[in-house]
Amino acid sequence: MIPYSKQTIDEDDIQSVVDALRSSHLTQGSRVHDFEQAICKLTTANYAVAVNSGTSALHIACLALGVGPQDCVWTSPLSFVASSNCALYCGASVDFIDVEIKTGNIDLNVLADKLATAKVNNSLPKVVIPVHLCGRPCDLEKLRALSIEYGFKIIEDACHALGATYMSSSIGSGLYSDISVFSFHAVKNITTAEGGIAVTSNREMADKMRLISSHGITKSPDSFVNENEGQWYHEQQLLGFNYRMNELSAALGLSQLNKFSDFQIKRQRAVDYYKNKLSDVCDWLGNNDPVVISANHLFVIQVDRKKRKSLFETLRNNNVWVQLHYMNIASQPFYQQLGFNAQEYPNTSRVSEQSISLPLYPNITTDEQDIVIALIKQELCS
Ligand SMILES: *Cc1c(COP(=O)(O)O)cnc(C)c1O
Repeated sequence: MIPYSKQTIDEDDIQSVVDALRSSHLTQGSRVHDFEQAICKLTTANYAVAVNSGTSALHIACLALGVGPQDCVWTSPLSFVASSNCALYCGASVDFIDVEIKTGNIDLNVLADKLATAKVNNSLPKVVIPVHLCGRPCDLEKLRALSIEYGFKIIEDACHALGATYMSSSIGSGLYSDISVFSFHAVKNITTAEGGIAVTSNREMADKMRLISSHGITKSPDSFVNENEGQWYHEQQLLGFNYRMNELSAALGLSQLNKFSDFQIKRQRAVDYYKNKLSDVCDWLGNNDPVVISANHLFVIQVDRKKRKSLFETLRNNNVWVQLHYMNIASQPFYQQLGFNAQEYPNTSRVSEQSISLPLYPNITTDEQDIVIALIKQELCS
């Protein structure tokens, strides 16, 4: 079987986790801290809070920015459901911005129009969450300008985009947004099995996210509200969660990061190979904008929607385990119950109906890619 994605685990990853298992701390030791520092270095962020999933990271990011029941959060409907669920967890309402056909990222012209209307209606969003689909950054400079004009905050859902750059700055740098979130689920560009991280260049946001990710409890004397009674003393200052990352996950993350640049070179090579072989056959999400470098998390081809289902089935029947990224979130029954209608986001529906995610991971071989390519050509060119 050729999966759409899979983790790359070597002996050094296994050794790193075994070392953590043999250490004195399985939780709250030094490895989580070291992993946070390593992610700061990679993304050029000042602060990082590692947690147990990308979803948790989105949740604490929303809470740190003060998202609550009076607020609205806008995001992409062409994403994993966590991109919008995180706002609902806070009691906020959600709205979606339709995407560009070419990239599948939110269309900033649609956003600008929607903001102008919302301003008149006094219903501006508190936070906008762009999703860097497939690892390709959206136009952050334009988004930043809109955030200044209309006064909303930005959380980048960068779960696909570890290692991507926009105008030569790393995704996560904090130059264009308040907080960026990455996921280390097994299929992402590096893995901690389950895990995620929120990065920011704002000290106050970082402290708040850390507090929320650990029950709302602090042990640092400089932030105590009441008198420090002694060495046992700690304070719960708000209602938080247990979202902490554990030491085994951090150990795996640290060893994965040692190989990250190699992973990215291999992903790029595999993507270039698909593009080269499929350019006469089909289109794919993304464009050649020179200001962005994609992290190449996914390679999503675009196929005439009348042919998509049969191509998908042919690939699956031949043990090529392709996937769909993504169904329109507004089409999910839960979101329909909330009153959403997928037809209000026609580009999202169109991209979704044309999409197939091809297998892409660092160690995919050209033989495996040739099998995928041959099946696509057989189905689409006959
Ligand atoms: C994977 C993913 C998430 C959630 O990450 P988990 O670590 O699985 O919780 C959120 N948003 C996007 C776009 C993702 O791909």
